[in-house]
Amino acid sequence: HKYVYDFTEGNRDLKDLLGGKGANLAEMTNLGLPVPPGFTITTEACKVYLASGHEPAALRDEVGTHLDALERRMGKRLGQPDDPLLVSVRSGAKFSMPGMMDTVLNIGLSDESVHGLATQAGDARFAWDSYRRLIQMFGRTVLDVDGDLFEEALEEAKRLAGAATDVDLGAAELERLVEQFKAIVVKATGRDFPQDPREQMDLAVRAVFDSWNGDRARLYRRQERIPHDLGTAVNICSMVFGNLGPDSGTGVAFTRDPASGQQGVYGDYLQNAQGEDVVAGIRNTVPLAELERLDKTSYDSLMRIMETLETHYRDLCDIEFTVERGTLWMLQTRVGKRTAAAAFRIATQLVDQGLIDEAEALRRVNGAQLAQLMFPRFDTDAEAERIGYGIAASPGAAVGKAVFDSYTAIKWSRSGERVILIRRETNPDDLDGMLAAEGILTSRGGKTSHAAVVARGMGKTCVCGAEELEVDTKRRRMTAPGGTVVEEGDTVSIDGSSGRVYLGEVPVVPSPVVEFFEGRVHAGADEADELVKAVHRVMAYADRVRRLRVRANADNAEDAARARRFGAQGIGLCRTEHMFLGARREMVERLILADTDAERDTALAGLLPQQKRDFVELFEAMDGLPVTVRLLDPPLHEFLPDITELSVRVALAESREDANENDLRLLQAVHRLHEQNPMLGLRGVRLGLVIPGLFTMQVRAIAEAVAERRAAKGDPRAEIMIPLVGTVQELEIVREDAERVIAEVEEAYGTDLRLSLGTMIELPRAALTAGQIAESADFFSFGTNDLTQTVWGFSRDDVEASFFTAYLEKGIFGVSPFETIDRDGVGALVRDAVAAGRATRPDLKLGVCGEHGGDPESVHFFHEVGLDYVSCSPFRVPVARLEAGRAAA
Ligand code: PEP
Ligand code: MG
Repeated sequence: HKYVYDFTEGNRDLKDLLGGKGANLAEMTNLGLPVPPGFTITTEACKVYLASGHEPAALRDEVGTHLDALERRMGKRLGQPDDPLLVSVRSGAKFSMPGMMDTVLNIGLSDESVHGLATQAGDARFAWDSYRRLIQMFGRTVLDVDGDLFEEALEEAKRLAGAATDVDLGAAELERLVEQFKAIVVKATGRDFPQDPREQMDLAVRAVFDSWNGDRARLYRRQERIPHDLGTAVNICSMVFGNLGPDSGTGVAFTRDPASGQQGVYGDYLQNAQGEDVVAGIRNTVPLAELERLDKTSYDSLMRIMETLETHYRDLCDIEFTVERGTLWMLQTRVGKRTAAAAFRIATQLVDQGLIDEAEALRRVNGAQLAQLMFPRFDTDAEAERIGYGIAASPGAAVGKAVFDSYTAIKWSRSGERVILIRRETNPDDLDGMLAAEGILTSRGGKTSHAAVVARGMGKTCVCGAEELEVDTKRRRMTAPGGTVVEEGDTVSIDGSSGRVYLGEVPVVPSPVVEFFEGRVHAGADEADELVKAVHRVMAYADRVRRLRVRANADNAEDAARARRFGAQGIGLCRTEHMFLGARREMVERLILADTDAERDTALAGLLPQQKRDFVELFEAMDGLPVTVRLLDPPLHEFLPDITELSVRVALAESREDANENDLRLLQAVHRLHEQNPMLGLRGVRLGLVIPGLFTMQVRAIAEAVAERRAAKGDPRAEIMIPLVGTVQELEIVREDAERVIAEVEEAYGTDLRLSLGTMIELPRAALTAGQIAESADFFSFGTNDLTQTVWGFSRDDVEASFFTAYLEKGIFGVSPFETIDRDGVGALVRDAVAAGRATRPDLKLGVCGEHGGDPESVHFFHEVGLDYVSCSPFRVPVARLEAGRAAA
């Protein structure tokens, strides 16, 4: 086993072994870029440590050998008293994991070598500043000392010295601070700050290993589905110093604007500072362009290096760099994070530059980003007072009155107010309040905090961790840094896509991307912005390569027409129950109350023309495209009055002795139809089998609507779908009746209607006997909502509000199985049913119409198992098209 790699030995493909940071440092080294020499301890070493509780036996020597080589190369030894080599120790896993231990700088400094460093640098202030940073970082991350203790001592020192920032502290003051820091360490840990440089290094390495199993890291991995056994690598890198005076500094840079994708000079620079100062925002940075004025040579080499990196990685890179007395050093690079808009723009720019092809461009964007671009957004031109900034945890633009507890959120929202729930952090008790709110704002916690996780799950807008906002729940107010106070009832606006928080109501405008899909903006037009043009091009790539067709779930002509504009290639699910509501409810009531065949037939005859008209409109809107009409699915009681309300009404009427006959019959029916578990009761095909004439009425309405559209020279393509089938016998009976009715209509209109008849697969038994069911079905459409409900035994209507939060928090799943298909359970049934169905009937058409049809991750699964189409809500059609393209690219 080889546990240590010099930076010259690795490359970017070794992320498994060297972690992302180590692999990229090696890549830059081999590109000939100025990377301070160093080496990486592999994830393999970490794995051994995690499994056995101690480092692999060979590690100590191997590290020793590489350290020797480093020392020879640098001409000084680690911690050498008169001229110390100093190193940084940084974690670096395969996937970047925010919240894990990051960095310890200046390893190798001690009471002795701090003087050597002072002499060598000719700068005592610098040496003491470096030493206090070491004790502070080491104390916090390796020795587990409360970081606030150091911060408080630093603040006190600044106050005593009348210093505005830490740069204004002199050598003597910093030396005193070092003494205080050392005392803090002794008090907190019962031991002295370690003076032996190799011990410092080994302890820091071990702390990085241990951090892999910290609570936050474990939770993050569970949620992000990152395996627990990958381990982290550790990078040991010789120090370069940005805090050696005004000709030194440190910065971050992007090869393009990560917000818009525009090419140019983007980044921040901080003179006379070490890396973590930039991130921590301790002092104000200057825009990177300023570096040209401060140090033209370094600036020019940085520009050249950025170009090299972009061409090499063929993508936006972000960079950390340091300038040490006029010499530029690269400390890190990686393919950079970007906003959704930038992702689309950069992908098409890189195609134009010839750096990537269209298939690669598709891999560079995703459906979640597209969905984000389709949210309405705040009008950027509007005047708005920004009062804070947090983590963009769940996208959207939400406006409402500030409330500081869930009770008020619920109360106010019931009385019709829109509210924003503001908490320091949320916990499971806030669930109902979160549901009631338009959006959620917290001042604590990151992307995996309770608020963030739950809000994303609910699809609610959320900004979390807006730390500079002081939330006082007792006094029901929030204070912004400028002193602005937001009281309960004041209107605030939060932007879950950018993390911005505003006072007052910011106007909301529709997304230009939606305007484009709606056909109100044309991608070729001059006024179309760059984003719209990029989205248009990427969608065209996706449509060109995808194999899955995309249909929409729609029950009326208006939704169908919109779906069509959004690119739907048919309707995969028309839920006819939606046609039984409103004014028609009375007729349904009559149907249910019918005592005789004649009464029932009259009720059905009343519904027939209405249904037919609905279908004619729908087929017209979808002319030339398939429309799957599902026969009535939900339990009948859903069309009847609420049992409690009706009981009260009847009881009151009886006490006044004027009970009305109809109400009494209705109440009887409600009692008769009442079920403990309606979702497992009289619904779907079962209704069709026990209420004579119900399904045949619907079939007749469909058949006649098709015949009429045909007569009007249209091109209707109807498919009739039977819900909740569990066994082929059910389907056979319905099919026989349906075929008889269709034949009658064909006869009457003198035309062949070419209707196909299929079934939903949404019960485990249907999936398990799919081979038999296919004997009687022209197509299957997987109803993954009910299939998830019945496979897991989770009630789809109750579960989100009850124990799901606990499940999400415990990481049992990172996302609800009702949102993303559970590949191992529900997915396995789908896969087997596909195979069994096709074995019986090779031309069986296969689709999915559960909510999963529009979920990015699930679309990839449906592509893999070989479905013909996915069907989802009209608004998600573009997302499904894109993901289907990405799955095929
Ligand atoms: C399903 O169960 O997945 C489905 C599409 O049907 P519904 O949601 O109407 O029950
Ligand atoms: Mg269903």
